[in-house]
Amino acid sequence: MTLSVRIFPCRSDNYGFLVRDEATGQVATIDTPDAEAILKDLEASGWGRLDMILNTHWHPDHTGGNERLKAETGCEIVGPEEVRRVAPLDRVIKDGDTVALGETVFEVTEAPGHTLGHVVLHAAGEKLAFVGDVIFPLGCGRLFEGTPEQMFDSLSKIAAWDDDTVLYAAHEYAASNARFALSLSDDTALKAHCDEIFAKRERGEKTVPTTLAVEKQFNPFLTAKTAEEFAQRRAAKDSFAG
Ligand code: ZN
Ligand code: FE
Repeated sequence: MTLSVRIFPCRSDNYGFLVRDEATGQVATIDTPDAEAILKDLEASGWGRLDMILNTHWHPDHTGGNERLKAETGCEIVGPEEVRRVAPLDRVIKDGDTVALGETVFEVTEAPGHTLGHVVLHAAGEKLAFVGDVIFPLGCGRLFEGTPEQMFDSLSKIAAWDDDTVLYAAHEYAASNARFALSLSDDTALKAHCDEIFAKRERGEKTVPTTLAVEKQFNPFLTAKTAEEFAQRRAAKDSFAG
């Protein structure tokens, strides 16, 4: 079993992801930030088909391309119920479900906080996950709908995966997150990690994907020991001007 992953920037700071199950050739897009950019990357991939859209949450920068991609490719749209607020959805997924793309199996975990129905998609057999707007390199999603307690629990579920799990986050926010992390700690290892992030961004390189091990060491939202500590840090980041 192997899953190939293509990642490409789109909109102002989103990442698009196309994945192919190599055993069967089935192809999916994770979210639909920009139908045009996804179709263009699909063309460049030579993969020749789009079987499925997997949505993580309802926000338009994750579902905006659902309608057009379905119209152009006939793909099935799979995601949490909340997607129906704004976009078409064929199959609803809930906590504990699995979704198969050919021989690749994604486990569905509800991770509320950023939105109430946000799901993360974990291909444990591939040691990778698509985490949408729940966790970013050195950051986490804003709490638009859920409580700090909900987001703390959601991050705890992710933290329970294997340390070498590769995390594909849906936005490039690492430089701003690094400046915030440095405002909380003068740890030398954190400083070195942040310097690497700043250098990558100056070279125009992506900081996604990251790994769970790296985030468990440095991400201030994962190192928060209690929901209270998490809530303080999230509130501080919301008003952080760095
Ligand atoms: Zn979002
Ligand atoms: Fe987003």
